[in-house]
Amino acid sequence: MSGPERIARTGSEVQMTQTIPAVDYLVLGDDPHLVANECRQCGALYFDRRNACAKCFATSFGSKRLGGEGVVRGYTVVQRGSKSGPYTSAVIELVGGGVVKANLVGVTDPTLIGPETKVRLVTFDAGTDDDETTAVAFGYEPIGA
Ligand SMILES: [Zn+2]
Repeated sequence: MSGPERIARTGSEVQMTQTIPAVDYLVLGDDPHLVANECRQCGALYFDRRNACAKCFATSFGSKRLGGEGVVRGYTVVQRGSKSGPYTSAVIELVGGGVVKANLVGVTDPTLIGPETKVRLVTFDAGTDDDETTAVAFGYEPIGA
């Protein structure tokens, strides 16, 4: 009797790998994108939740889907350890509005980045914890690179 019972219990404990966005404003799925809180009065965009707009002090916000493409407005190459290598932190002005700070993906040569470099949103697995939950982060990769 103990044999079949163990099998049944094991079957009920099958773990599904769960995928969650690393930040609240990243929406996953077939078409990953960012969502910002938009001030209904002046249109200012915020990624964090606000009680009042920092620009006009209005307290009403809506949800705005941001564009997946943008232009690099500034960047910093960050040198970490020799193993992880440098990465590029960039400020990206999104097509359709919104400015986001994120890492550039697949760019280690800063000479390939200009102030008008066009980029698009990409997502990648940032790590899996002990509960098989995979965090998905986002970055931007140059278009046409
Ligand atoms: Zn406002």
